[in-house]
Amino acid sequence: MVEIMKKVQSLFYRLFRNHQSTYTAQFSSAGVSLIRPTVSSSGGGFQQALSLPYSGKIPNYTESSQSHTKSAEEILSCYVTELGACPQNEDCCICFEKLAEASGHGKGTSEDHVVYQLERCSHMYHKLCLLALYESGQKKGSLQCPACKTIYGEMTGNCPDGEMEYRLINRALPGNEGAKTIEIVYNVFEGVQGANHPNPGHPFYLQGFPRVGYLPDCDKGRKVLQLLIVAWKRRLTFTIGRSATTNRDNCVTWNEIHHKSECQGNHNGHGFPDPKYLDNVLGELAVHGVTEKDLGTVGGPGRGLGV
Ligand SMILES: [Zn+2]
Ligand SMILES: [Zn+2]
Repeated sequence: MVEIMKKVQSLFYRLFRNHQSTYTAQFSSAGVSLIRPTVSSSGGGFQQALSLPYSGKIPNYTESSQSHTKSAEEILSCYVTELGACPQNEDCCICFEKLAEASGHGKGTSEDHVVYQLERCSHMYHKLCLLALYESGQKKGSLQCPACKTIYGEMTGNCPDGEMEYRLINRALPGNEGAKTIEIVYNVFEGVQGANHPNPGHPFYLQGFPRVGYLPDCDKGRKVLQLLIVAWKRRLTFTIGRSATTNRDNCVTWNEIHHKSECQGNHNGHGFPDPKYLDNVLGELAVHGVTEKDLGTVGGPGRGLGV
C-alpha cells in the first residue's frame, strides 16, 4: 500500500514538474506571445457580450488563455502531415537541401529526415526547418509558409495584462441616430516589458489610459464589439512601441485596430459621423486574423444580438 502511494506521489510529482518546466521554458522564450484564448474562453466573452448591457471586466490574462501556451512542435502539429515518402528532387526552401536528404538544421538523428507537408498550401519542408523557422520568428502562435505566405494558426499580440469593459450609453452617435452607443474602456496595468517586447526588463509607459472607444449599438456595431473582445483576449489591441503623439519610446500604443475615441465630430478622424468606420475596423480586425469565423464557434454567430 505504501509502495503504491509512493508511486502515485512520484507520478504526480513528475507530471507537475514537467508541466512547470514546459510552462516556464515557453514563458521565458516567448513571453506572452503564445498565449491563445480557447474556444471556451472566447465563449465566456461572447456570453458576456451577448448579455448587453454588461459592466464586468474582461481580462486578457485568464488562466484558460495561459493553458493554451504551446510548444512550437505542438503548434506545428496542428497544421502538418508527416510524409511517409517525399519527392526525390524537390528542395526544402528553408535550408535549400533536398527534401530526401537531411535537414540543414539537422542534429544527426533520424528526426533530420522527417518531412512535413503544410495542410492548406501543400508546401513541404523538413520538420526541423519548420521548427527553426518558428523559433526564429516572433512565436506568435502562428506560422507563415515562407513560399506562399499562407498563415497557419491564430495570431496573438503582446499587449501587456489588462482589462476591458463596456457599457451602453443612452445617446446616439452622430450619423447613427436611433441607436444607443457602446462605450468600451481599456485598462492596461503598469509593468515591465517581457521577452516579446522591444526592451525586455524596461518599464513600459501608459499614456492616456484608460483608453475609450465608441461604437453604435446596431447589429454591425455589436458584431464589431464581439470581434474587439476576441482581439483583446488575443492581446492584439495594443502593443509597445513609440507613441505617435509624444514620440516617446516604450509606450503602450494602439496596434492598428482603430478605435473612435470621441463621440462628437470627426475633424481628426477620431469621432463620428463616419459611415465607413465599422467596415474599416472589420477589415483591420481581419488583417489580424479576427473574423466572423471566430464568432461562429460559440453557439452560432450573433445569438441574441441579431448579428
Ligand atoms: Zn530544410
Ligand atoms: Zn505554402
